[in-house]
Amino acid sequence: MSTIPAAPATPKRVVILGSTGSIGTSALKVARDLPAWIKIVGLAAGSNGSALAQQAAEFGVHHLAITSAPAAAAMAPLVPPSTHLYTGPNGLVDLVREAQPDLVLVAIVGTAGLRPALAAIEAGCDLAVASKEILVMAGEIVMARAREKNVHILPVDSEHNAIFQCLEGRDPASVSRLLLTASGGPFRTLPASQLAAVTVAQALKHPTWNMGPKITIDSATLFNKGLEMIEARWLFDIGMSRVSVVVHPQSIVHSMVEFVDGSVLAQLSHSDMCFPIQYAITWPARTASSLRPVDFAAMAQLTFEDPRCEDFPALDLARAAGETAGTLPAVLNAANEVAVAAFLENRLSFPGIWRLVEETMNRHTSQSQPSLDDILDADTWARATASAQL
Ligand code: NDP
Repeated sequence: MSTIPAAPATPKRVVILGSTGSIGTSALKVARDLPAWIKIVGLAAGSNGSALAQQAAEFGVHHLAITSAPAAAAMAPLVPPSTHLYTGPNGLVDLVREAQPDLVLVAIVGTAGLRPALAAIEAGCDLAVASKEILVMAGEIVMARAREKNVHILPVDSEHNAIFQCLEGRDPASVSRLLLTASGGPFRTLPASQLAAVTVAQALKHPTWNMGPKITIDSATLFNKGLEMIEARWLFDIGMSRVSVVVHPQSIVHSMVEFVDGSVLAQLSHSDMCFPIQYAITWPARTASSLRPVDFAAMAQLTFEDPRCEDFPALDLARAAGETAGTLPAVLNAANEVAVAAFLENRLSFPGIWRLVEETMNRHTSQSQPSLDDILDADTWARATASAQL
């Protein structure tokens, strides 16, 4: 067996958008572990200026962006005068253009990552995508621009990263279907009759992953898996009918690919986002890490079951949105964001999240082959339409 690949001659220059969040801090942990592979050249957050300034000081970063203008003003005295601090609506795009990265990791919750992601592609940078919203809303546009610019889109979502690894070097014609695994969330076995009574605190308790609040609620409703189905459809250029979901409560098998001969390849690791983040950043190389490998003998069992589509309608709604495509996935995504925010504020019941998304989708006439502006208009429309129903 050969030895572990040596570090590259120069480390990869990386910008992290959303560095103060759950994915962002995991990415910095990976960077701390692999200084010979990764040089952080830009960091961005929404409003947490003190954490951003601390990160910049630790990693010696001179290009920062913070979207909130008041947070930028409060942060300015905390950074050295030589630091470029970008803010306002174009701050993230300015950061991506000015920091001259090789790779941009987009880990912003919601839709704010879309324009900077496209700016990174235009600048010829590879993109590591954690923010599934980008591909759900504008997957066709993002993937087409990436192909034109010869830029790689590297999935960070653990499921898509797993599929990416299973597909490497394979002929697309040999793939029969993609199998996304789902933990099933905290209510996997809860009787349907009790779903209306679940609380925010219960929904925020994910059984296997430690994540930001929005994606944790999405995991409980299964909208996270629904969004991932659409994400997979664009990332891997495959029809929705060939994207399946299987519930796997232990979250050790991160996803699988079934080939035409019936063989299935899977990727396994502990549920720690540092695994897919590291692979996305060091790709195409694979290097040693301080992460704990799977101990098969110590593992009690790996189980699989069908999702409860009737009780958790998110998967069917997402499949419908992905099959219709056009502006409907953006509407599903935006309505879901409004619904999750309302649920977190105790203004909507847990099943109300599905109902609000479905009703907003029903009121929308999807536009095919949309431009970026059409998608952003549909996003705005869906937010207003969903909010008006609360
Ligand atoms: P968090 O809520 O933990 O973090 C969000 C990050 O985005 C923060 O750094 C936040 O800054 C920043 N942010 C929010 N709004 C803006 C804005 N308008 N401009 C600039 N920065 C902004 O989210 P997660 O890390 O959990 O998730 C990030 C993305 O990754 C989501 O799309 C999620 O679906 C996806 N993902 C997450 C996984 C996980 O394990 N957490 C797994 C797979 C995918 P601030 O701190 O200042 O608010």
